[in-house]
Amino acid sequence: MPCYNEQETVPIFFKTMEEINAKMPDHTINYFFVDDGSKDNTLAEMRQLNAQNPDRVHYLTFSRNFGKESALLAGLEAADGDLVAVMDVDLQDPPELLLTMLKGIEAGHDCVAARRVSRDGEPPIRSFFSRWFYKIINKISETPIVDGARDFRLMTRQVVDAILSVQEYNRFSKGIFGWVGFDTKYIEYKNVERVAGNTSWSFWGLLRYSLDGIVSFSEFPLSIASWVGFLSFFVSLIFLVFIIIRAALHGDPTPGWPSMVSIFLMIGGLQLFCLGIVGKYIGNIYLEVKNRPRYIIKEKK
Ligand code: UDP
Ligand code: MG
Repeated sequence: MPCYNEQETVPIFFKTMEEINAKMPDHTINYFFVDDGSKDNTLAEMRQLNAQNPDRVHYLTFSRNFGKESALLAGLEAADGDLVAVMDVDLQDPPELLLTMLKGIEAGHDCVAARRVSRDGEPPIRSFFSRWFYKIINKISETPIVDGARDFRLMTRQVVDAILSVQEYNRFSKGIFGWVGFDTKYIEYKNVERVAGNTSWSFWGLLRYSLDGIVSFSEFPLSIASWVGFLSFFVSLIFLVFIIIRAALHGDPTPGWPSMVSIFLMIGGLQLFCLGIVGKYIGNIYLEVKNRPRYIIKEKK
């Protein structure tokens, strides 16, 4: 469980999960809490749970906030169970679903994931952009990225090892889950609001995250640049021929500099836009070749 400023939710989560564990007589849940550099008492809550159940509750804490993706990775690397589940601690991933997921795994699926079919309680503007994000990314990426799928899933060891073998710096888990393949079953459920605390995602944060997702799983934006360039070259060629013929037949009737300026601006804008796209990919390559660790652990139990 990735946790960032979750002091209220960690104890509630643990209590709820223990009730679920009581309904799985053949299984024991071990907990791996990842404190993603929280600024509140999240770590103290984790230490306390660990002191009460040293064998089953583990935690690790980062030296600073590295982001949810890094926390997810650290958790997956730490978890050593035969089956591994990733979930949020705010109970937005309903723990009861774990029972259904477990049935799915027992029925032979490699992975059972939860998919939100409603977004009740979410700001409408956020839902609107989320929908469009999934529409666009699924058009331009070969890796299926399921709309509404949360980072809440139960996986076999084999799937976890496959996910861990993907060693990229810019991790977009929703894409990596799809990329590794395997037989995944989706369970649908209605959105649940978090039990306590506040979401740590701002609108701009989510927008940046979605752009990272697109850049990580599609090369399409790179080809937009060449298509736009080709199109504007072609159109200006036609214009040029038209202007030359018109000047030859009628002389130059209008000086026309305003239209000239707007065309300059348009072409200049397109060039900057395309440069920006290329820059985004180069930036990612830069981060990738630096090969820095994705997180730094300060304390581990
Ligand atoms: N989270 C994290 N690091 C961050 C931001 C969030 O580990 O920098 C965790 C957070 O504690 C929670 C999960 O990621 O367990 C999902 O975050 P949140 O509930 O804020 O997002 P939402 O459910 O609104 O998408
Ligand atoms: Mg949440």
